[in-house]
Amino acid sequence: MAKDQVLTPEQVIDKTREYLNDEHVGLVEKAYEYAREAHSEQYRKSGEPYIIHPIQVAGILADLEMDPATVAAGFLHDVVEDTGISLQQIEKDFNSEVAMLVDGVTKLGKIKYKSQEEQQAENHRKMFVAMARDIRVILIKLADRLHNMRTLKHLPQEKQRRIANETLEIFAPLAHRLGISKIKWELEDTSLRYLNPQQYYRIVNLMKKKRAEREEYLEEVVDDVKDHLSDVKIIADISGRPKHIYSIYRKMALQNKQFNEIYDLLAVRIVVDSIKDCYAVLGIIHTRWKPMPGRFKDYIAMPKPNMYQSLHTTVIGPKGDPLEVQIRTLEMHEIAEYGVAAHWAYKEGKEANEPVSFDKKLSWFREILEFQNESANAEEFMESLKIDLFSDMVFVFTPKGDVLELPSGSVPIDFSYRIHSEIGNKTIGAKVNGKMVTLDYKLKTGDIIEILTSKHSYGPSQDWLKLAQTSQAKNKIRQFFKKQRREENIEKGREMVEKEIKAQDFDVKEILTSENIKRVFEKFNFSIEDDMYAAVGYNGITAAQIANRLTEKERRKREQEDILEETVKELNSQPQKRKKKDAGVHVEGIDNLLIRLSRCCSPVPGDEIVGFITKGRGVSVHRSDCTNVLAEGVEQRLIPVSWESDRYDQKEYNVDIEISGYDRRGLLNEVLQAVNETKTNISAVSGKSDRNKVATINMSISIHNISHLHKVVERIKQISDIYAVRRIMN
Ligand code: MN
Repeated sequence: MAKDQVLTPEQVIDKTREYLNDEHVGLVEKAYEYAREAHSEQYRKSGEPYIIHPIQVAGILADLEMDPATVAAGFLHDVVEDTGISLQQIEKDFNSEVAMLVDGVTKLGKIKYKSQEEQQAENHRKMFVAMARDIRVILIKLADRLHNMRTLKHLPQEKQRRIANETLEIFAPLAHRLGISKIKWELEDTSLRYLNPQQYYRIVNLMKKKRAEREEYLEEVVDDVKDHLSDVKIIADISGRPKHIYSIYRKMALQNKQFNEIYDLLAVRIVVDSIKDCYAVLGIIHTRWKPMPGRFKDYIAMPKPNMYQSLHTTVIGPKGDPLEVQIRTLEMHEIAEYGVAAHWAYKEGKEANEPVSFDKKLSWFREILEFQNESANAEEFMESLKIDLFSDMVFVFTPKGDVLELPSGSVPIDFSYRIHSEIGNKTIGAKVNGKMVTLDYKLKTGDIIEILTSKHSYGPSQDWLKLAQTSQAKNKIRQFFKKQRREENIEKGREMVEKEIKAQDFDVKEILTSENIKRVFEKFNFSIEDDMYAAVGYNGITAAQIANRLTEKERRKREQEDILEETVKELNSQPQKRKKKDAGVHVEGIDNLLIRLSRCCSPVPGDEIVGFITKGRGVSVHRSDCTNVLAEGVEQRLIPVSWESDRYDQKEYNVDIEISGYDRRGLLNEVLQAVNETKTNISAVSGKSDRNKVATINMSISIHNISHLHKVVERIKQISDIYAVRRIMN
């Protein structure tokens, strides 16, 4: 890959002739003619005809000995984006493979990269791979970028810096992962030239100054090694190893080292015919010079994840300085320079074309890209290959161009909670690529997601727990439900309870002893006092329930006499009503009293209940949270009652419930079926729907006890599109 040379189309086509058959060279030629025609009216910023660019891109790909479709796509890569020719036309005039490659490159061109922290860069690289689908698309894109970097001087400075930065953060690492060191180094060095020209030229000049001295010394080492190798009849190609400007710059910047400390490290590379020779040469080097401990690395036995193989060692060289030595075969050397490309260089005629294994290689290389990890050894790497991480991910954009990685199947809610839990909690809708979508829309790689929020939102709905894919979103939603206005609710709840205590004519301080409070919150299964008040605050439990418990002892003391007196009076005035109505309820201490269950709150066994002494009609039994018994001034007439527990399952009690949900076809039927499945009798049912498509179903059902009721309610809640089920008071 000669940097400075501008290739003619003939030169590019001649290159392909070296490894392609006539038919395939014909395809490449046709692609060139086609591109020249398409771009004929266009010019680059440099003033040159536009076609020069695709010619160079195709040339780089031909240098890598890429397959005919890839080289052809190199010629055609800007045609769809920059001329009036459609992808369909390309497919018609060439074939679907070429069209697919051109399409891939065009799509990658649309990804907007914004300089960000390392994680963002990593996500962009992954998105690139995910979107490219075919690794050859990335190779074309790299060739495209390489030529653009070579001609960057024609652009305004601001653009130069932006493109150079993107190259350094996205393209050079991709080249590295594909093992194409040649492209990687050139991309890095050129980027540095535009990003930090002072340092770049300083290093270049320092290298120049030292060159003569270095070359002399290296020559000495090379001669020495050659002599020793010829003694044992090993043929080797020995050379000083070029150092790259960017790698020197990085070491200086990262390790805070002086130029001399890095550049003076001498390095030679020995390329031999066979692996056996590699180890033989290593033995000779180690005999000739003293190896430095801990510096020997066997990347032949343990290749790097990007397929790199070599022996590395450092010895104390002839002048007492450290001398780095790399030993490898020619094949390993090619892979070190050309990486992926070397691996499947398209050699026709050598072996039969193997389109099948080609596909296999593609998927394998994709995995390499995914699992590249500098520190992983080959064993770990092979292990990691077994897991298909990537197909489980989607990469999507924020409107500002940040990329987020989410599990596939994620919906806009996952996205909004990934950004911030506050955004998540206030989400009311989402736009994908400018269009409104429903909250169950499955995100696709490349989507631009805009979340619509409202400060008036009441927060997530219970349904979101089913839609969300990420545990992060689910946890945040659950947290919301728990923490929902917690502080506020604690305060409010405390006030409500105190007010209630006062209303019962007790002294707040006397009642709210820490001992009494503890007794009560434990009774209601709260773990701390604040939880109890918070529950009152958001109406999870009524202030009266808490206050009644808090005051129960005092109240009982105060009321006992009154109640008993009144009850006896009641009994005496109603001597004729001796029969006990079978309500399954027992009044403490009194047997022959008329008892009936109130219709307003329809208590069932298991509910907390209280008796209410009525004038002339005995005792009516209410749920203890029924608004009628909580009304002011009735306390004196309440009397403790309890369920006759052994008879729970024999009787049936009427309960009214109200179900609301999204009004869709079949909803009522499903509800009726669900109730039926629980072997519950329905005595009445009615339904209506409002403008917002919210359906309300009212139902009277016959219930044995509270757990029976819970079972029915739970079953109804399992039906999709049900928003709420509640027990109602008449
Ligand atoms: Mn281009």
